[in-house]
Amino acid sequence: MQNLGVIDGKTQLIGLFATPIRHSLSPTMHNLAFKKLGLNYAYMAFEVGNEELEDVIKGMRALNLRGFNVSMPNKTKILPYLDELADSAQLTGSVNTVVNENGRLIGHNTDGRGYTRNLKEHGFDIRGKKMTLIGSGGAATSIAMQSALEGISEISIFARNDQFYARAVENARIINEEIKQFSVKANVYPLENQEQLKKEIRSSDLLVNGTGVGMKPLEGISVIEDPTLLRPDLIVTDVIYSPLKTKLLQQAEAVGATAINGLGMMLWQGALAFEMWTGQPMPVEYIQEQMF
Ligand code: NAD
Repeated sequence: MQNLGVIDGKTQLIGLFATPIRHSLSPTMHNLAFKKLGLNYAYMAFEVGNEELEDVIKGMRALNLRGFNVSMPNKTKILPYLDELADSAQLTGSVNTVVNENGRLIGHNTDGRGYTRNLKEHGFDIRGKKMTLIGSGGAATSIAMQSALEGISEISIFARNDQFYARAVENARIINEEIKQFSVKANVYPLENQEQLKKEIRSSDLLVNGTGVGMKPLEGISVIEDPTLLRPDLIVTDVIYSPLKTKLLQQAEAVGATAINGLGMMLWQGALAFEMWTGQPMPVEYIQEQMF
């Protein structure tokens, strides 16, 4: 019998486990895509923190779900509960997508690929380019690793002197010593070193804000104190998509630079997960028309 677009006995559930989660755009995005393609799946968000995570994963195994997403605070905590990690998860030490391959739970991280795919959609190829990257948390790490895997030539990471600084140093080490596909040079500098920041941006093609500076509670603030560091031929990207135009992107537009917000990264990380679960490409243009 034809699937009538309602949940029936054959519907496959895809979960999202995070907290807080009610603001997430992922359920709407995936369910619109399932419906558009006539795929018999349903995507639902569940309020799950670190304490519940182990039980939830056990439950997923018992139910033999095709896959699920995890978000904060579970992206790193989930690692020990999975059977295998793809390169994207291994290099970043974090997972946002799990695919159940015949009972084996494989962890992936599609954030970095979502970022580079979105740049491609904007006509920008990172191969051979230089990036100045602010931050070394989850989003910034995914961007750094994937850019290195895809052949960027140099990444200068600027990190604040907080608990993430050591991660910046470790990210640079991994890029310099372990990623062998391309010869990529990674440098780490304290974000407080404005002179060095100026120098690195001047020789970069791409400037990336990989921090939450620019969204609540830091809305209206930019990681770039001196907007004269920006110039028209610089590509400036932000991981933030709420607000759509952060202070940094406003500064970029004011000097005529290309400004790209985090919405495309979010959309493409979801599209890559969707394709792994269903074997079909997400109808991205349709989702954009409907949601954004
Ligand atoms: P995180 O907590 O793992 O990392 C935060 C980073 O920001 C760290 O490097 C920290 O040092 C830095 N930081 C924090 N406050 C700062 C300040 N005042 N000045 C300078 N640096 C500061 O967080 P995350 O998971 O990497 O998320 C960061 C942002 O990326 C969030 O806004 C999140 O919504 C966004 N994000 C977007 C996508 C997407 O698909 N577009 C995906 C993941 C995360």
